[in-house]
Amino acid sequence: MAVDFEKLAVTGVQSLRPYQPGKPIEELARELGLDEKDIVKLASNENPLGPSPKALAAIDAAMPEITLYPDGYGFDLKKALSDKLGVGMDQITLGNGSSDILDFIARVFANDGDNIVVSQHSFAIYGIVAKMVGAECIAVPAVNFGHDLDAMAAAINDNTRIVFITNPNNPTGTWLTAAEIRTFMQKVPDDVLVLLDEAYFEYVQEADYADGIELLPEFPNLVVARTFSKAYGLAALRVGYAVSSPQLADLLNRVRPPFNVNSLALAAAEAALSDHEYVASSIAVNNSGLQQMVAGFDKLGLDYIPSVGNFIAFKMPVSVDAMQVYQQLLAKGVIVRPIANYEMADYLRVSVGTEAQNATFIEALTQVLS
Ligand SMILES: *Cc1c(COP(=O)(O)O)cnc(C)c1O
Repeated sequence: MAVDFEKLAVTGVQSLRPYQPGKPIEELARELGLDEKDIVKLASNENPLGPSPKALAAIDAAMPEITLYPDGYGFDLKKALSDKLGVGMDQITLGNGSSDILDFIARVFANDGDNIVVSQHSFAIYGIVAKMVGAECIAVPAVNFGHDLDAMAAAINDNTRIVFITNPNNPTGTWLTAAEIRTFMQKVPDDVLVLLDEAYFEYVQEADYADGIELLPEFPNLVVARTFSKAYGLAALRVGYAVSSPQLADLLNRVRPPFNVNSLALAAAEAALSDHEYVASSIAVNNSGLQQMVAGFDKLGLDYIPSVGNFIAFKMPVSVDAMQVYQQLLAKGVIVRPIANYEMADYLRVSVGTEAQNATFIEALTQVLS
């Protein structure tokens, strides 16, 4: 008799639905019979400037080494991060993207029957890593699309192992101050881990925005995750990292697959970290782009959620279907992100692009809504 292997999969995997990424440029170009350069993709919060020239040069220089396994410890990148962040190398865990880190923390600390607390409208990967280890994911209702930290602290129970906090949050762009996070951390039991996901850290300009790494000495149960995928412009290379106490880093490193960050990625990330000019222009382009987007939404009379990230969620006018607008934008070669799976069916999320890309998007949206 034929075996139904689905029944053999562990419980968490049976109910798992794969992460839905933004639509790739190649796919839409194929569907529309267009050239890839005529497609504007503002769907995955990628850096619109293209890679840092220093990162590209570092990749070229590292190319002859690709027959060798990479440095599994990632010494040079860890050293560069350690110098920049003022933390010990033994506090750093490298990930194949920071998504890897989210997976490590779930696998180290959560199991069948445990739970993980998250906010409503927060990153889809949290639910996926929770399910993967058989843990329940408790989503606490958001307030004004942001984390309700008081309610999240109150949701922690005896079975809670991890809380995921996203600052700023994707896809809503809302953010938390250092004081808010400190107050929250004081309420969290010492034996519950808090993963502070700072994927968009570099973009945030607000003076009282929390720098999770500064909070580490006060809170031994805190783990901060950052990435090279966004402001550092290296999404395809998959490099992220966690900063934590040395003991937590040791535990995370035990489940880290050997060689999880390849040598081209290690070299590029180290070079990007020192390309201050590139990061500064990324931030400048993002700041003016956010203003450009907001001006466009204001002109169209659309509501949006004020964002400190490199993306912004905007709301459909009454009786306009977001999926339909998404499809109509696709037909014009513009890819944005539907976020119905984040319980935001009336919204679409658009990443901030170059000035020209933003203008193309606003023009296409204006036509679709007219
Ligand atoms: C983009 C993003 C990440 C980082 O993903 P990588 O795996 O590093 O590419 C992590 N958290 C959130 C909330 C994000 O939006």
